[in-house]
Amino acid sequence: MIPFEKAYEIVMGSVVRTGTEKIPFTDSAGRILAEDVTSDIDMPPFDKATMDGFACRRLEIHNELEVIETIAAGKKPEKRPGRNQCSRIMTGAPIPEGADCVIIKEETEELPSGRIRFTGTYNKDNISCKGEDVRTGDLLLGAWRKIKPQDIAIMASAGKTTVTVSRMPAVAVISSGDEIVEPQYIPGESQIRNSNSWQLIAQIERAGARGRYYGIARDDEDETLRLVNTAIEENDLVIITGGVSMGDFDFVPGVLEAAGVRLLFTRVAVQPGKPTTFGIHENAAVFGLPGNPVSSFMMFEMLVRPFISAMMSFNWQPEVQIFPLKEDFSRKSAERMALIPVIITSDGCVRPVNYHGSAHITALAEADGIITIPVGALELKGGTLLTFRKI
Ligand code: AMP
Ligand code: MG
Repeated sequence: MIPFEKAYEIVMGSVVRTGTEKIPFTDSAGRILAEDVTSDIDMPPFDKATMDGFACRRLEIHNELEVIETIAAGKKPEKRPGRNQCSRIMTGAPIPEGADCVIIKEETEELPSGRIRFTGTYNKDNISCKGEDVRTGDLLLGAWRKIKPQDIAIMASAGKTTVTVSRMPAVAVISSGDEIVEPQYIPGESQIRNSNSWQLIAQIERAGARGRYYGIARDDEDETLRLVNTAIEENDLVIITGGVSMGDFDFVPGVLEAAGVRLLFTRVAVQPGKPTTFGIHENAAVFGLPGNPVSSFMMFEMLVRPFISAMMSFNWQPEVQIFPLKEDFSRKSAERMALIPVIITSDGCVRPVNYHGSAHITALAEADGIITIPVGALELKGGTLLTFRKI
């Protein structure tokens, strides 16, 4: 059994990056940007009106002004407002040469002569100048960020219609166990519905990778080996759940070795999650996660999610916050690091949810996140500050 920190180090030291691909920028939200994006133009590309009104010379705003043309957005100004002249202008239209401000429509009145007059007292320029936001060649988005909707707007403005992103790892999911049936069936006596696989696929997708389901391996070494071999052949990462404990039919570690996987650990000092197994093969990395859905969920978050992110060169970090513990906490053994599902109370503390153990999947629905209790800590006093990790 190795400490969690050591397991994390081994996992992160085994990352093989997936490489990159070019895709249309319109498909890139949520992907990991694998190049720097720079601007091919100044932004704004010309001096433009930020308000509807009249473009004129600041010196003359208190004079009666003759309107010499109307400039709509998208049109090129044709006249130059001179002495006591102005051009009617719409938001987003180019400022005509010679004008240095826009008086806004709401602060003007039209006189019977057809001229207009400024009725305000103070006038801002109401012009956004060419290149004031961005200059040609400026760095707009640095590589290795997760692309957000706002980033898509930036790419659109910069003409970045094809973008290089990290290739999404293909991640195989295999469940194991004679007792496991798919969710659409009513479990018979001694059967359990397969919750892990579907939870894992959703976790894989949330991590930005592609989940592929390979089904349930019966507790049969040959059948499990065949599935594992296929999954390793076809994917960057394979996750198999169940069959990693100490039972008579828990032969997943042996099967992985038979498939040519070099096992790097098979026991981690965490609770839940002790039988977590990890190994590498020349074609794929492999995690063996515990069969219980709460353990599988947590070990994915603690080890697999950072691993998948790093495969895409993305430095994912969990959302954490410091909270005091609501009440005293104690446990029977402090040999392992404990992961405890907790809620945030209305007075800003964390309190463990009612939790019967790692098969108690509904406890996670109630939990806001998890706290970790370090190895060696048997008791914690109420008020102790702890790192809360959102799930
Ligand atoms: P195992 O590691 O195979 O000994 O499984 C540990 C526990 O997790 C057993 O109670 C299994 O029935 C349960 N379990 C295993 N696989 C799944 C699964 N895919 N969905 C829900 N529970 C499972
Ligand atoms: Mg089993």
